[in-house]
Amino acid sequence: MKDVYDGDENDADFKLICKEFLNGTHLPLRISSAMRSIIVKNHEYADPIYNREMDEQVQRLVGCLGMSERVLRTPFPVCFTRHTSRLFFFWSNCLPFALYPAAGPLGTLPASLAKKIDNPSSYEGAVTEHLRMSGIYWSLTALSILVPLEKVDERMNLCSKADASDDTPTIVDFVFECFDAKSGGFGGNKLQDGHILYTLSAIQILALANALDDERMVEIKPRVIAFIQSLQLDDGSFMGDEWGEIDTRFSYCALSALSILGELHGKDTIDIDKAAEYIASCQNFDGGFGSQPGAESHAGQIFTCIGALSIACRLDLLKDEELLCWWLAERQCDSGGLNGRPEKQSDVCYSWWILSCLCILGKVNWIRGDKLANFILKCQDDEDGGIADRPGDMVDVFHTFFGIAGLSLIGVLHEKDGVVQIEESDGGDDRKNSYRKIDPVYALPCDVVQKLGLKGQVALPKDAPVDERLKDYDVHQWNSE
Ligand SMILES: [Zn+2]
Repeated sequence: MKDVYDGDENDADFKLICKEFLNGTHLPLRISSAMRSIIVKNHEYADPIYNREMDEQVQRLVGCLGMSERVLRTPFPVCFTRHTSRLFFFWSNCLPFALYPAAGPLGTLPASLAKKIDNPSSYEGAVTEHLRMSGIYWSLTALSILVPLEKVDERMNLCSKADASDDTPTIVDFVFECFDAKSGGFGGNKLQDGHILYTLSAIQILALANALDDERMVEIKPRVIAFIQSLQLDDGSFMGDEWGEIDTRFSYCALSALSILGELHGKDTIDIDKAAEYIASCQNFDGGFGSQPGAESHAGQIFTCIGALSIACRLDLLKDEELLCWWLAERQCDSGGLNGRPEKQSDVCYSWWILSCLCILGKVNWIRGDKLANFILKCQDDEDGGIADRPGDMVDVFHTFFGIAGLSLIGVLHEKDGVVQIEESDGGDDRKNSYRKIDPVYALPCDVVQKLGLKGQVALPKDAPVDERLKDYDVHQWNSE
């Protein structure tokens, strides 16, 4: 290591890196987290805008490191995919010339169109492959809000097969195939290492499919619990996997996953109080939360922190609830959409992150629901029905889920009490269709949460009415002036 380091050997940073190297820590991640803590300590001397920009660049670097890590660990030769895609591109572009003599101008048109059709080896398919588990959770939950479970099963091959002779695996089978026996967690796709993010998605999918007591789950459950336990560090924080990245998102995933498995409250699986105290230590002077103590407030991280404290039933650790609600409410832009941080563009996914927090804190009415609903609907693609991050962009399942969940939280999907009945418009069929409500703490339909008897807490200002979807949760009261 001395060869690549040309500074003083007694330099504190150099010593730290050598120590971590000998400990076998994932060095790039360790160095980037050291960079972030230097930026945080720098806040007294440097301009906050400058600091934030630096933090953002390091965050991008961490994202890129994570992506390269996954590429490196995917057991598939890259040269193979590159060559296949080049060869296919070349072949399909030349195909019309080969067909022309035999088929003439009209016959060649379908061939040139066919090459444009998206296929699983496309760029988009390849870059999202490691996210497959979360992708299934987003699309499944979005569809579950819109149509009853039997229909979800029918349309997505969730747990039963329409045709017994069909040997394609159901979604539930796929989830179990992604279990990584080495770590005890679930991977983002088959043959991938277990990670807490995908472990939560897998458990959420099983909860949605009503398959938590499937015999395969019963068999691996002790291993999954041991995996989550192994991720908690002495200060209460959680790593994402064995590589040691620490983030408040992972705390939420760990608490939520254990709670859904019925292994959190009253069980000695992890140190709940320490986990909650660590999260509380990530609250900033502006009321928001970052990815670790002192890191900049960000709406996504605020959701994971408030959600985790709610699941731990420790919302009493929150400081400045009113200030936090102000910070969240100020995220509404002129377009009606919400942004994740000051000075950023609005984006549909924040409809969920911000509204769910305001819902847990009893202040959803601080957002103009009609303006937000308008924004979300403007982001919907008229042709394929999906929702994009902002109007005119490409749609994806991630934003489609958060858009629908956001609409559900502002009550556009279900007005007044219970569900709104709307008529299905396809083919004059006069069956009635009802929407399910989404739970702001667990991000699952409310009936699933209630059926499993999951625990949670809401923090409401004095005299605030309790939202119907939160009626089973403990109530912590905060003072609102
Ligand atoms: Zn987004």
